[in-house]
Amino acid sequence: MKAVILTGFGGVENLKYVEDFPKPEPKENEVLVRVKAVALNHLDIWVRMGALPVKPELPHILGSDVSGVVEKVGSLVKTVKEGDEVVIAPGLSCGVCWDCQRGKDNHCKDYDILGLKSKGGYAQYVVVPERNVIKKPKNLSFEEASSYPLTFLTVWNALVDKGGIKPYSRVFIWGGASGVGVAAIQVAKSFNAFVIATAGNKEKMKRCKELGADMVLNHYEEDVVKRVREVFKEGVDIVVDHVGEATFPKSIQLLRKGGRLVFFGTTTGSRAEIDIRYLFVREIEILGVYMGSRANLFKITELFERGVYKPVVDKVFPLKEAPEAHRYLEESRHFGKVVLRVD
Ligand code: ZN
Repeated sequence: MKAVILTGFGGVENLKYVEDFPKPEPKENEVLVRVKAVALNHLDIWVRMGALPVKPELPHILGSDVSGVVEKVGSLVKTVKEGDEVVIAPGLSCGVCWDCQRGKDNHCKDYDILGLKSKGGYAQYVVVPERNVIKKPKNLSFEEASSYPLTFLTVWNALVDKGGIKPYSRVFIWGGASGVGVAAIQVAKSFNAFVIATAGNKEKMKRCKELGADMVLNHYEEDVVKRVREVFKEGVDIVVDHVGEATFPKSIQLLRKGGRLVFFGTTTGSRAEIDIRYLFVREIEILGVYMGSRANLFKITELFERGVYKPVVDKVFPLKEAPEAHRYLEESRHFGKVVLRVD
């Protein structure tokens, strides 16, 4: 099959397009999906660079967010059949342990993300367990459907499960133009929150506003903490941080007493310095988020189908151009998601 394989860790030159990679075979409880589109995540870049503690065996296939058509099902598969249009839930787990059964599958000891250790969607075909296959919202194209699983799953966990968002919560989102940013703005607005987002240029700021953000700040040019405190003297209820070292101290300063910092991803580094006295005096909670319960993806998918959430696809590249797509994402030229089309 056609695939873009990772042959070594480092720059984009390690991504190689081939046409003779072995096609996977589904086991009895698995589904073989003919990939139509696969969206990029920052995770793809970290795996490519070998920057994570977990490294896949090489050659590897990246790609966590997949949409496509069911090509073949194992003998025990009941819920989907050949020809069904589907999206794939990117979190892989054992399905039977205590954490999996109580809906905390992201705490499973065998937890993996499609494209992290297991082979992902930068290919014509991918195999996943039946429980990871969800019917594609009919109103979305394949490119659009590939754009939401990982980011919305993570953001839902951050804002709803961990952050405890309520109607009219005040939510601050760093990097509103990123994949998780566009998800966070929409999820927060669906709870009628007051949303403050940041972006790096005028065009991105305008688009954050169009997506529903009530207030948008330029994180390069403005004193973000001062600006927020002008509107909400006591601070905000929830801050969504996926930037890390560069923003973490400010994230804490943005919070009101009892506020929550929900965070995942550390694109600027992972060594943040904070004065911990500030945390207990103000009863601030810092909550780490890693993916989320697969069950929530059914709810999120329903909300896409009902038009509550809108996919934000910035640019579609053909599979062959995966290296260019990686560069585009690394240079932060995107608003929303970057997708590879697989023919
Ligand atoms: Zn498990």
